[in-house]
Amino acid sequence: RKQWWKVVTAVDEFEEAASTPVGRLRQVVDAMAVEMHAGLASEGGSKLKMLLTFVDNLPDGSENGIYYALHVGGTNFRILRIQLGGQRSILGHDVERKPIPQHLMTSTSEEFFDFIALSLKDFVERKGDNLQFSQVRGKDLGFTFSFPVKQTSVSSGTLIKWTKGFAIEDMVEKDVVECLQKALSRRGLDMNVAALVNDSVGTLAVGHFLDKDTVAAVVIGTGTNACYLERADAVIKCQGLLTTSGGMVINMEWGNFWSSHLPRTSYDIDLDAESQNPNDQGFEKMISGMYLGDIVRRVIRRMSLESGIFGPLSSKLSKRFVLSTPLMAAMHEDDSPDLSEVAKILEETLDIRDIPLKVRKIVVKVCDVVTRRAARLAAAGIVGILKKIGRDGTGGIAGGRIKGIKSGKMRRTVVAVEGGLYTSYTIFREYLNEAVAEILGEDIAPYVILKVMEDGSGIGAAMLAASNSARS
Ligand code: ADP
Repeated sequence: RKQWWKVVTAVDEFEEAASTPVGRLRQVVDAMAVEMHAGLASEGGSKLKMLLTFVDNLPDGSENGIYYALHVGGTNFRILRIQLGGQRSILGHDVERKPIPQHLMTSTSEEFFDFIALSLKDFVERKGDNLQFSQVRGKDLGFTFSFPVKQTSVSSGTLIKWTKGFAIEDMVEKDVVECLQKALSRRGLDMNVAALVNDSVGTLAVGHFLDKDTVAAVVIGTGTNACYLERADAVIKCQGLLTTSGGMVINMEWGNFWSSHLPRTSYDIDLDAESQNPNDQGFEKMISGMYLGDIVRRVIRRMSLESGIFGPLSSKLSKRFVLSTPLMAAMHEDDSPDLSEVAKILEETLDIRDIPLKVRKIVVKVCDVVTRRAARLAAAGIVGILKKIGRDGTGGIAGGRIKGIKSGKMRRTVVAVEGGLYTSYTIFREYLNEAVAEILGEDIAPYVILKVMEDGSGIGAAMLAASNSARS
């Protein structure tokens, strides 16, 4: 029938516009490497901020003692306590997750950090470390704060802007460690913020603690970001940057990457225009958990407007973010013969009922297109980093080659990956892994290993607190 034909055409068009053949992915790889270069060459030289982290020595496994970490960065707030025993061993590891109350995400910095300090205090008291008399310290705190921060040292930095739905205006351009430290003393907690890190940097730290071949880290959760170990002399915008190791971790803030080679559709354009941060975080809006479900909602809405196959137009379909990414993933991964999970989620979250199996199949198809594109673009981003540091087997781009590595001579290279999309969404993870191998080709792919780091960013921050307190 005509209506059915319209829907099929709409899905085909969407699939075509969102397609990521390997040739296009290679263009994204090149664009990523070029933008990385530009971002390192001058301040504001690229949409990639390529921020200095002042982390020049990654944990090497020798760290010892009890450390705490806080992780603020998305839907959940996490508090961690780890006990390190040297020799790459983690003797103890406790994590507590708490949702951040919605109203605090747009409140004042004082209210926000008071909540965090109180939660930490409660946690420390329950864990029973007597900080005052402790032999193993337990006073040093790593702080993972996954928003763009301009660091001034390994333990200080100012917030550049909010992302992922946060908007505590009085914090922008303030030192986030100072805000936290003040809240800690208001609450009578004698702890010292020894390391301020981005989540991707925390992930890289724990990756390196466990496996010294880890050179980069990627987070794909509510938002997305990446960091990697760069040579200090490649950071052209910071002439004469001296570090003890000759290297420095660079926080790319890759969520803001943009290239004309990205397969952008009309749905992406609408999503961006209606977002809290239009023209910002373009890569993130195609890849991360905050947005994927909403892209699917937009496609279903268009299909529903243009045909009657979803029944009368549901008002829920016009509500932003009603269809979360985990729900979208659950529809995508529905393996029941009649797609009953799809039917249930459509009914419960979108008020769409009694649709035939072939329409449910269309919905699954849309989820697949959105997720596949996201995973493959993230894969291209990862290979872009490897290209920049000469680990993609092509010899790198001019100036980006690491000494001693020539094309054809590959070293084992590990990328640490964290975030709910990669750890909990199996199809996403498979698409991503598959695309990395496809772009690299069969000769190089075996040298590149993606390793899951669950809770890595928090543990890594605690480890960085350890390595930075030991030296101070
Ligand atoms: P953060 O909010 O700090 O990024 P996570 O890394 O745990 O925390 O990522 C959470 C995000 O991952 C959620 O917002 C959601 O979008 C996505 N996510 C979590 N679980 C799943 C899942 N099973 N399927 C798809 N997406 C998921």
